[in-house]
Amino acid sequence: MQKSFKPLFEQYDWSAVQQRIARCNAADVERSLNKKTRDLSDFLVFLSPAAKPYLEQMAVLSQQSTIQRFGKNIQLYAPLYLSNECQNICTYCGFSMDNKIRRRTLSDAEIILEAQALRAMGFQHVLLVSGEANHSVNTAYFLNALRLIRPIFAQISIEVQPLSVEEYIALQQAHVNAVLVYQETYHQEVYKNYHPKGKKSNFHYRLDTPDRIGEAGMHKIGLGVLLGLEDWRVDSFFNALHIEYLQKTYWKTKYAVSFPRLRPAEGVEKANFMMEDADLLQLICAYRLWNPDLELSLSTREHEMFRNHVIPLGITTMSAGSKTNPGGYVVEPDSLEQFEISDERPVELIVDRIRAVGYQPVWKDWQTEYTG
Ligand code: SF4
Repeated sequence: MQKSFKPLFEQYDWSAVQQRIARCNAADVERSLNKKTRDLSDFLVFLSPAAKPYLEQMAVLSQQSTIQRFGKNIQLYAPLYLSNECQNICTYCGFSMDNKIRRRTLSDAEIILEAQALRAMGFQHVLLVSGEANHSVNTAYFLNALRLIRPIFAQISIEVQPLSVEEYIALQQAHVNAVLVYQETYHQEVYKNYHPKGKKSNFHYRLDTPDRIGEAGMHKIGLGVLLGLEDWRVDSFFNALHIEYLQKTYWKTKYAVSFPRLRPAEGVEKANFMMEDADLLQLICAYRLWNPDLELSLSTREHEMFRNHVIPLGITTMSAGSKTNPGGYVVEPDSLEQFEISDERPVELIVDRIRAVGYQPVWKDWQTEYTG
């Protein structure tokens, strides 16, 4: 029988978690900081407003822990958007089905052109991204795209619609190394407001997706919430609870967390819950202090200054030079993006910056031959 996070998830109540976070005090923070090994209750303490005055101390410990486990390395990757077709309505996304934009799905020749452009920039790790359009951009389409790009990249990750165990096995056999799937928010009562139409409106099907990826034996699973939809502290606690469950259940798999903050996009309103830069740094450090093995990934959604600042403070992975529209690198640079990116520097400048703070840019930490 398929394992599920749902029974554990249902033991927790959103408001009760929110109150626990609000009740944390300075003594709790100091106790958690002084521990050698930490658990989820420490993570909850580090998320709290009470931990804010300890941010510098948290950052120092986060830096030390990251160097110990990952060295002074920053993995680089770039997204390759395959399609902006989507059968879902998501109120925060430029590709939402109700947005009247020109839809485009890359052809074989276009996929190869985009892939070659990224390879020419130095990338060996690509993240394939698409909207959720099962009639045209489905597993058969992905398997074909994988066949086309496999000779070009050493490492392939994918962020597409939730699939079945069998489909994830097929992707893995086609040399996919990691699958990313974000719950967006764990606040079940309001989830439907953000996802009123389409398959994504099924909260529990999405919640069980990492279980299906784990069951398929994927090498790495990436999780995250869309920061700005709901209270980021509570959502991040549930995301960590999910990761802890997965690590115990699919212990051979590696895990990564991303930190997408809600960005402006065509037809999209502003974030409901503002998250300041200091809050995001606190969240990154909280994850690191709780879980030394997690890969922590920061995209070009974040602005240049912030990205420069956090390179040595816990992050292990960064995107660079990103385009969030299908064909955005060479085929059709002016098509509509999924969201506005903030760090628009060319890859060379990001690489220079990583080196300038004493870190090594890593273009791949995998080889497609290891999978499949
Ligand atoms: S977030 Fe994903 S599923 Fe939702 S509208 Fe955008 S592309 Fe489609």
